[in-house]
Amino acid sequence: MSVPVGIRSLVILLLAAGTLVSACGEAAVEPPRPANRAPVAEGAIPHRSVRVGGTGDMEVLLHDPVVTSNHTAEDLLRETDLIRVMEAAAGYYLGTMTGPVLGNHGLAYQSGRSSFSVVDLRERSELVIAHEPGHNMSLQHPPGCGAGFVDASFPHSGGTIGAWGYDFRYGGRLVAPHAGDLMSYCQYDWVSDYHFTNALRHRLADEGTDLAATGSAPVRSLLLWGGVSSQGIPYLEPAFLVQAPAALPGRGGAYAITGHRASGEEVFSHRFDVSELADGDGSGSFAFTLPVEEEWNGSIAGISLSGPGGTALLTRDTDRPVTILRDVTYGRIRGILRGESAGFADPDMASGSTHPHLEVHFSRGLPDAEAWHPR
Ligand SMILES: [Zn+2]
Repeated sequence: MSVPVGIRSLVILLLAAGTLVSACGEAAVEPPRPANRAPVAEGAIPHRSVRVGGTGDMEVLLHDPVVTSNHTAEDLLRETDLIRVMEAAAGYYLGTMTGPVLGNHGLAYQSGRSSFSVVDLRERSELVIAHEPGHNMSLQHPPGCGAGFVDASFPHSGGTIGAWGYDFRYGGRLVAPHAGDLMSYCQYDWVSDYHFTNALRHRLADEGTDLAATGSAPVRSLLLWGGVSSQGIPYLEPAFLVQAPAALPGRGGAYAITGHRASGEEVFSHRFDVSELADGDGSGSFAFTLPVEEEWNGSIAGISLSGPGGTALLTRDTDRPVTILRDVTYGRIRGILRGESAGFADPDMASGSTHPHLEVHFSRGLPDAEAWHPR
């Protein structure tokens, strides 16, 4: 079988929190280990402590490559977040891709858990990879140089770090106060005291509560994902029936996602806000998993996403085929393939090896009878 044109690998780094240390030096949070973390292959990236987002030690784990039809930063971030939600692992998911990527060099959910960065821009990539998880940890941009998502409280002028820093790498060196903060659009060399403290404070508050929830067992769930374009137009990706822990939308907001029967009767409805992506063009995206209730069984005839910019619909006539490949042994997602490629189910096409432990999820828009009632 020939390899479909345009299929590339999305490589994800899992940034798993080590022990968070509060300002007074005592261990403040000892987060549980992700239950389904991937074994790190011999010769692959080993466990490694790195400074990420300016908040001390984190473990970096390499996710198995995910084949994808996409090569646009915004789409790759949405897929990275889908993978995170499906796998329900603790920590942060940082999607990367080598080679040409359309759109921004980096994107992130503000105070979320997923980001995307290009990785082959040498020194710039190093900073983008640190900058984007900084947004996940609540950091915004110092004012200036055209940055949006500005933190007006940033205390140092010109986006500088404002205090002496110390780089322990390469034998150690002092970093001068006029060096740029990694969240600045003007210059970026190091992390300010202000952002280091804010990121640590966010992690102490966020990871302690959130990680407790990641231990919930996978249940049969409806995977809903989509977003809002930079023009404010909502869109929905094909919905799937999957085994995954619940990941419910936040309560209240300008958008409603609703499932209904052929009679028009509502099956479920949730209101939420689609947050704009940091470093993006005004677009936003989301991924949820709603536990399936027994009375839904095969009766959902439509799903809508409505908001200020209009309504997106999935119906039984929707025909935008997507295949999700999942490793059943580890629960890892291995492929998200669209259109003609959706029929191509081998994620290791370069080696030609086969994957007997992959399960294939297919949807054209709404889960079909086969998905609701597997034989
Ligand atoms: Zn940014």
